[in-house]
Amino acid sequence: MSSATLTSFTSLVSDFYGYEDLLSDREKGVLADLRRYLETEVKPGVNRHWADATFPHEIVKGLAGLGLFGMPWEETRPFENSAVFRGWVALELARVDASVATFVGVQNGLAMGSIGVGGSPEQRAEWLPRMASGDLVGAFGLTEPLSGSDSAQGLRTIATRDGDDWVLNGSKRWIGNATFSDITIIWAKSAEDGQVKGFIVPTDTEGYTATKIEDKQSLRIVQNADITLENVRVPESHRLQQADSFRSTAAVLRLTRAEVAWAAVGNSIGAYEAALAYANERVQFGKPIAKHQLIQDLLVKCIGNITASIGMVVRCSQMLDEGTQRDEHASLAKAFTTARMRETVGYAREVMGGNGIVLDYDVARFFADAEALYSYEGTREMNTLIVGRSITGQAAFV
Ligand SMILES: Cc1cc2nc3c(=O)[nH]c(=O)nc-3n(C[C@H](O)[C@H](O)[C@H](O)COP(=O)(O)OP(=O)(O)OC[C@H]3O[C@@H](n4cnc5c(N)ncnc54)[C@H](O)[C@@H]3O)c2cc1C
Repeated sequence: MSSATLTSFTSLVSDFYGYEDLLSDREKGVLADLRRYLETEVKPGVNRHWADATFPHEIVKGLAGLGLFGMPWEETRPFENSAVFRGWVALELARVDASVATFVGVQNGLAMGSIGVGGSPEQRAEWLPRMASGDLVGAFGLTEPLSGSDSAQGLRTIATRDGDDWVLNGSKRWIGNATFSDITIIWAKSAEDGQVKGFIVPTDTEGYTATKIEDKQSLRIVQNADITLENVRVPESHRLQQADSFRSTAAVLRLTRAEVAWAAVGNSIGAYEAALAYANERVQFGKPIAKHQLIQDLLVKCIGNITASIGMVVRCSQMLDEGTQRDEHASLAKAFTTARMRETVGYAREVMGGNGIVLDYDVARFFADAEALYSYEGTREMNTLIVGRSITGQAAFV
């Protein structure tokens, strides 16, 4: 079997239980267009960009043209989308490349999401349409050099009110898209009330510097930056007007965390499909290795993990639409699917033998990228503690 036979534009071949049937015909049609675009415009270049740690800027407009930016935000939404469909988009993106899925997750989920959740109607009208069209690229600056998992309490970046302006001082780390973003949402503690507030910071503002994090060995296509803020002055109109505490930041993260769970399934599928195609082509002991029972065992473990994970993310997204999804639901999905992904990319790598560590065969990329998905948007430990608090009634964060 060649990899081409695993690529149907009209359905996801690795969706073993046929969950895609839950989508509307229109949603299925958009996914078919997305698959075709990813297969023809994105996939051919990803290994080269991964090796060079460069971002394919030309895809920004292409992805925007497919309506992928701003889907959850009313003003810019080109059509009604179910949460399952939105998650499925993240899956399809990550199935081809987890860095591209991350780019969209930052633009559409974290950056536009901050404005969608925390912005006033005027701010939404001012910024979201230009981001939806891909004219403006956004980034989301929460994590700091000294504050990762404890960002709810530990932020050191300070916002000081000065007349009609705010002055920001501090530093951020790991900020995706930030080497080329036009605006970055900076989350900072107010010197006035000690609460976390969000600011829309144009990246050409004096005192704002973003420096690329070099030599990353996972999600190499994502351009992560260290940011320094030295007396960065923004007007009050750039403060997210409906985000007055970390609760607003958490509301954005809840939405995007569930989509990272979907992306983890996509990254698993990408590795599995490459391994399955290879198993049917690679001949050892006179027959394709797919005919060896132990290879089938590895592949079946992969499809089992993938199928269980799709079931979980589908239900989690349905709960979002029903209004019953809580933090612990998104956290369990993220912790579970990323852990299954780590196993799955390992099995896929094993099927490939030595070629599993060569970039040209794709699995090495999915294998390496799994590590960043596992840790960002809440590590497994943090998400476990959120679920643990929910099921026991006991908070165990410290
Ligand atoms: C590729 C990539 C992209 C990213 N993009 C962004 C972005 O766009 N914007 C942004 O703001 N951030 C971004 N991040 C940051 C990301 O969210 C953090 O890396 C993550 O939250 C973990 O923080 P940390 O790396 O500082 O680890 P730490 O918080 O230092 O944790 C280190 C280890 O200690 C564990 N740990 C910490 N506290 C506890 C505890 N109480 N109990 C048990 N274990 C604990 C953690 O689970 C982890 O295993 C990105 C990170 C990566 C790697």
